[in-house]
Amino acid sequence: MTTGLLKPALYREAGSDADPAHPALLGGACGCGHVFFPMQNFGCERCGRTDLSPRALTGRGRLLASARVHLHAGKHRHAPFTVGSIALEDGPIVRTILVDDGVPFQAGDALTATLVDVHDADGNLRRDLRFQREA
Ligand SMILES: [Zn+2]
Repeated sequence: MTTGLLKPALYREAGSDADPAHPALLGGACGCGHVFFPMQNFGCERCGRTDLSPRALTGRGRLLASARVHLHAGKHRHAPFTVGSIALEDGPIVRTILVDDGVPFQAGDALTATLVDVHDADGNLRRDLRFQREA
């Protein structure tokens, strides 16, 4: 049994310099100022340059929209759960699962990244990224 990250290419346990308290998302930045997630080397979506640098993005953002999922085709994902689009402080918009706390989510809610225990397709315990309402 392992407790490694489910998707280590996308996030890490350690926070960014700007937000050490929450897991960082592994994005990238271009010399033109464009910040993106996830890291890629195909070229900047804004200017086309290919000399892109990895950047740890802060695990803080604002909820843009959310949807409650009541039925899901995946065997390993138990409904109901809530999916949200989150505008990260660093700019990119990510879509991921929110940690339900019993209070309906609203656009504009301040959210922070967190890691929760999940089981992968082989039943191994892993840590996966979620966003939760800021305490
Ligand atoms: Zn660029």
